[in-house]
Amino acid sequence: MSKDTIPTKVDPFRFADNGTRLQGTLPINEMTRLKSGLASDEGGVDINLLFGVDEEGIRFLRGHLKTDLIVQCQRCMETFKYGIIDDFMLGIVETEEQADELPERFDPVVVKDEELSILEVVEDELIVSLPIVPMHKSEDCKVKMPFKADSDDEAESDNPFKVIELLRTKKDKGK
Ligand SMILES: [Zn+2]
Repeated sequence: MSKDTIPTKVDPFRFADNGTRLQGTLPINEMTRLKSGLASDEGGVDINLLFGVDEEGIRFLRGHLKTDLIVQCQRCMETFKYGIIDDFMLGIVETEEQADELPERFDPVVVKDEELSILEVVEDELIVSLPIVPMHKSEDCKVKMPFKADSDDEAESDNPFKVIELLRTKKDKGK
């Protein structure tokens, strides 16, 4: 698979008419808005984009993204890799009115001056895919929270020292 350089700005209408495919990697450190929510801006996003025109004459951008974002767990404060695989389908339009008329299967992207930033499209998709409060899966996290479903959870959740106690137990075991 060739790893071509992804152009920053493209004319999506021309790309759609030509059925252009873009494949490659975009660096996370250029995604300013996304970066602010991450613990590290290392790495890149593998992208696979196909521009085209569907049978109804709608210009579209079909995308597949794959990346590991490094985030901080808001429970134990350690960093971890949050894997994202995202598929999206954008309808390329020129006005808000056209955006409203798009069939439901499309997310609209309103393009002004025949110019679309691939970086921003990818960044927007990742921001939406990223959890607002990133946390390990409970089984992977250093901080063990009592499960709400437990019958005796009242006693546990009333005890603010429970978490500290659990942490201490784990640490002792490790020695
Ligand atoms: Zn954690």
